[in-house]
Amino acid sequence: MPYDLHTHSTASDGTTSPAAVVAAAARAGLTGLALTDHDTGAGLAEAVAEARRLGVVLVPGVEVSTSHQGRSVHLLAYGDVAGDPHLAAVLAGTVASRRDRLRRIVDGVRRAVPDLRYEDVLARVPDGVTPGRPHVADALVAAGAVASRDEAFEELLAEDGPYYVAYRAPDLEQTVRDVVAAGGAPVVAHPGSRSAADVLDRTTLEALVAAGLVGLEVDHRDHDAAARARLRAAAGELGLLTTGASDYHGAGKQNRIGENTTPDEVVARLLPRAAYAS
Ligand code: AMP
Ligand code: FE
Ligand code: FE
Ligand code: ZN
Repeated sequence: MPYDLHTHSTASDGTTSPAAVVAAAARAGLTGLALTDHDTGAGLAEAVAEARRLGVVLVPGVEVSTSHQGRSVHLLAYGDVAGDPHLAAVLAGTVASRRDRLRRIVDGVRRAVPDLRYEDVLARVPDGVTPGRPHVADALVAAGAVASRDEAFEELLAEDGPYYVAYRAPDLEQTVRDVVAAGGAPVVAHPGSRSAADVLDRTTLEALVAAGLVGLEVDHRDHDAAARARLRAAAGELGLLTTGASDYHGAGKQNRIGENTTPDEVVARLLPRAAYAS
C-alpha cells in the first residue's frame, strides 16, 4: 500500500497544519506519509499524534536545504534527524540565514511593490516556522499585487529575477554523511528540478552514494517521463531506491496529496519500522 513521502505543513511553507496534512493523507486512502518540512521538524509531534488518532503511519522527516557547486539541492532526510544535536544546529543555522534573507528579498521587492510591508511578511512566520519565498508571495497576494503564489514566483520572486537573494545552506555531500550519522535515510528530492539537475552529474551521484545516499525521488511533478526514465536508470546502476511523492503544500501549490506515491516495500527498505510512528 502506498505512501506519500514528501509533504509540507505550516511549519514551513505549506498552508495546512501538520494535523490537517495527515488528515488529507488519510482521506486520500494512503497507508502513510512523511511530513518533510523545509529545515525543521517542528510539525512532527502534532503529525505523530494525528497519525495515531487516524490510524495512518507517519514517517518522520525533514527536507534539508543544501548547496552543491553553488546550486540549491534539497535533500529529504527520513527518521528523527531533527532530533540529532548536530543536525539540529545545522538546520537552525539555515533557518537564521533564511530569516536574514527574507528581509533583503522584501527590501528588493518593495522597489516594485511599495505596498508590501515587511511586518506583514514577518507575521506569517512566527518563531519555529521556516521562512521562505512563499510567505512573501502570500503577503503579495494579500496586498493585491498578484493573484496567487504561482504568479508571485513568475517574476517578483523568481530565482533568476531581479530581487532574488540566496541563503546559506550546508554542503550536500556532508549533509548526506550527517543524516546517516544521525541514523536517518537521505534521499535526493526532485533531482530533476531546475536548480539541481545541472549539478547532479554521475560523479556527484557516485560521491553521494559513497557518503551513504539511499535513494532518488523519481516520481515527482517536476519530472517529465524522460527525466523519470533517466533517473530510474541511474538509480538502478547506482543501487539506489526510487521514491515517489506529491511535495504537497496545501493550497500553496497545485500538487495534490498522493498524486505520486512510494510502495510499502520501498518504504520498508528505507528505514527500520521502529523509526515510524503508527
Ligand atoms: P525558498 O525556499 O524560500 O527559496 O522558496 C522555494 C519554495 O517555494 C519551494 O520549496 C517551493 O515550495 C515554493 N515554490 C516554488 N515555486 C513555486 C510556485 N510557482 N508556486 C508556489 N510555490 C512555489
Ligand atoms: Fe516548499
Ligand atoms: Fe524541495
Ligand atoms: Zn518540498
